[in-house]
Amino acid sequence: MCYNFRMEKYQDIIGLSERFGINAEYAGEEFYPRFCRRTAGKDLLILCDANTGAYAHPFAQRLRELGRAVRVLELPAREPVADERTCASVEEAIAPNDYVLAVGAGTLNDIAKYATFRRGVSCGVLATAASMDGFTSGVTPLIKNGFKITENAHTVEDILIDFDILCAAPRIMTGAGTGDILAKYCCLSDWKMAALLTGEDYNEESASLMRVALEQCVKNIPDIAASEKKGIDALLRALLISGYAMVLAGSSRPASGAEHHMSHYLEMDFLRRGKPIPLHGIKVGLGTLVSLHMYRRLCEMPATFEGQESVVALAETLPSPEWAASVLESLGCPTRFSQIGVPKDTVRAMLFECYKIRDRFTIMTLYHRFNWMYDAADELLERYY
Ligand SMILES: [Zn+2]
Repeated sequence: MCYNFRMEKYQDIIGLSERFGINAEYAGEEFYPRFCRRTAGKDLLILCDANTGAYAHPFAQRLRELGRAVRVLELPAREPVADERTCASVEEAIAPNDYVLAVGAGTLNDIAKYATFRRGVSCGVLATAASMDGFTSGVTPLIKNGFKITENAHTVEDILIDFDILCAAPRIMTGAGTGDILAKYCCLSDWKMAALLTGEDYNEESASLMRVALEQCVKNIPDIAASEKKGIDALLRALLISGYAMVLAGSSRPASGAEHHMSHYLEMDFLRRGKPIPLHGIKVGLGTLVSLHMYRRLCEMPATFEGQESVVALAETLPSPEWAASVLESLGCPTRFSQIGVPKDTVRAMLFECYKIRDRFTIMTLYHRFNWMYDAADELLERYY
């Protein structure tokens, strides 16, 4: 009964989005009628980069034909970085009567959310890739002084979905989005384990919503790998729902666990070395393999702490790291850290240090509490470096 109720919510993504104040709108015969009504009277500033300009310019043209005032701001880089310089240049371009529409995915969406939040105007996104779950989140990861930080922003007000665009996205971006969703197995387990062992608040509605979206996404993996509409739809739903699950939980718990700490740790290292940073979901996918392996290892370990039986029962519900690796591989994603150009010493240090990134109980915290990483590190490196 309860499950059906959640399933219904999953199916009605437009209604669910409305509940969170977001207009999720699919491309149809009429040109995004709700978006056009909602932004009536505003000047539209369309933000894109050298890659997504191919979608942004025709989109702007359609709006002009409808009599709308439109400007296009095309960032010169093919892969812009959400740093202070880029954000400032976008902020400068925003006028008080603007509505900013990002045509892109992760970075452009982040820049738009942050710059419009600072300027006090609204923003939306025409999603060009199902590559991450930040569309519906109210915070924005930025790079300041070479450090990765999370800044307050607001969520997009409109998310425009066109499967002709999403299905044509580079395969690696779809793979990254899938990595960010596979990670939810570990996020939800880390959260449940924290509730069991430390009494942390656990929100059943948030966790179930995330789990249903995760399971539906996983059922569609062959269609995701083939860039079929059915698969990309399930993936995008899961990415949107991930944001809603975070709102319900009042934290990023349902969408971020040890695998995200691993990703953030590596990201800092890429920044320090001045190297281009691999997509968020690529690093998170690798972290997911490590977390899944750590959970599985736990099932074979002697009883050490109170509550271990419940944690083992939880671990037994998780998929195998081999299965997760085969999924990532089917999407053209790396399954070893060596494939993303990170030194082995950094990955070793990550295994020992990343739990300190934030005060959040995860499988990493558990391993460090009992000094198990000294036994596990070589095994993890052998499998995943
Ligand atoms: Zn993520």
